[in-house]
Amino acid sequence: MPSDITVTQGWDKLSSTLTRLARPEAAPEGAPVNMPMTRGSTVLFPSLSDMRRQGQKHFDHAYIYGAMGTPVQHELEKAIAVIEGGTDCQVVSSGLAACTTPLLAFLNAGEHCLIPDSVYSPTRRFADKVLKRFGVETTYYPPCASAEELTGLIQPNTRVLFAESPGSHTFEVQDIPMLSRIAHAHGARLMMDNTWGFGIFAPFTHGVDVSIQALTKYPSGHSDVIAGAVTVAKTEDWHLLRETAIQLGQLAGPDDCWLTLRGLHTMGVRLSHQAQSAMRVAQWLKTRPEVARVLHPALPDCPGHEIWKRDFTGAGSLFGFVLRNTFTQNAMEAMVDSFRFFGIGASWGGYESLVLPTSKSIIRNFPADDTEGPSMRLQIGLESTEDLIGDLEQGFSVLKAHC
Ligand SMILES: *Cc1c(COP(=O)(O)O)cnc(C)c1O
Repeated sequence: MPSDITVTQGWDKLSSTLTRLARPEAAPEGAPVNMPMTRGSTVLFPSLSDMRRQGQKHFDHAYIYGAMGTPVQHELEKAIAVIEGGTDCQVVSSGLAACTTPLLAFLNAGEHCLIPDSVYSPTRRFADKVLKRFGVETTYYPPCASAEELTGLIQPNTRVLFAESPGSHTFEVQDIPMLSRIAHAHGARLMMDNTWGFGIFAPFTHGVDVSIQALTKYPSGHSDVIAGAVTVAKTEDWHLLRETAIQLGQLAGPDDCWLTLRGLHTMGVRLSHQAQSAMRVAQWLKTRPEVARVLHPALPDCPGHEIWKRDFTGAGSLFGFVLRNTFTQNAMEAMVDSFRFFGIGASWGGYESLVLPTSKSIIRNFPADDTEGPSMRLQIGLESTEDLIGDLEQGFSVLKAHC
């Protein structure tokens, strides 16, 4: 059984960095600890030549015009790049835009991309609906495909190998270093949705070229912001990404950026608590006779668990579980409706616990064994672990009463 330390160590280590991010420099006359808020579309310059000089600095996070980002957005970009271990970051309007903007930046008509079957479903829809219309072909691959299987799917025009680890709803942990070797051997970029692993998975040291974040989740942390970020580590990638973001009009409002910076300062301690609590809930669920499988990367029966142990320095607050197949979908839904502490709603990463049924809603080209029972996803928040376990316990009696 994984100890609390293995799920929390990365968060604990990160906290000292997080508390100092985006702090204005101390001044003899005193300076506020937090970034001042700047709202603005127009920026005024003393002369045309100043305006032209500043206008050439769009790769340098300069304040040129509101649509190219305000100082608060630029501070947030620097902070995300530090946490991800990249060199440059572009903040965009949502986590989904953080998936779509680099796909548009790094793919051309007539090219091909490989996307894991366990991808966040709006990313799949974007590939199937938009990329397809612009002449980009997508092949879905099983998230735990071997190097041989993956190499077999590479085409001469494959330019992006997309990864998301762990997978949405099914939590397969992908072998990112292996994916990186295959992508780079065939002239493709490895792009990763690293939302679950933010702060506990170092994308660039594991060979990722483009790392994607839904800032909506852990960084903002209070379910009051929609924003995303794309981080890179090469100048060439940065230029393509930044130009595409400007051409698409991608940015996030200063208030959302400021709230995200505020959330980042407490992310380490929030997630340390939430990761520990999630682990305890997952271990408790494993002891329940109603449960067939718990899908948590830190548990040995999660696909790719050994890779999680090798590559991650902690775990998140989001995991899933599958009920025994003697329970019906209706009984599971009655259980979900009975919860008092788990809210029913989309998203995750905030301070509050959430539940979402996952059976009958996920799209897969390579579906799981259909002998499995109904399933759901839990986001563990900051409530007491005992209250959450108590809520699940009363939920199980509702479940059993429906059979
Ligand atoms: C939530 C989520 C997104 C999208 O984020 P939004 O800000 O809601 O658009 C992308 N990827 C993953 C893995 C997510 O969980």
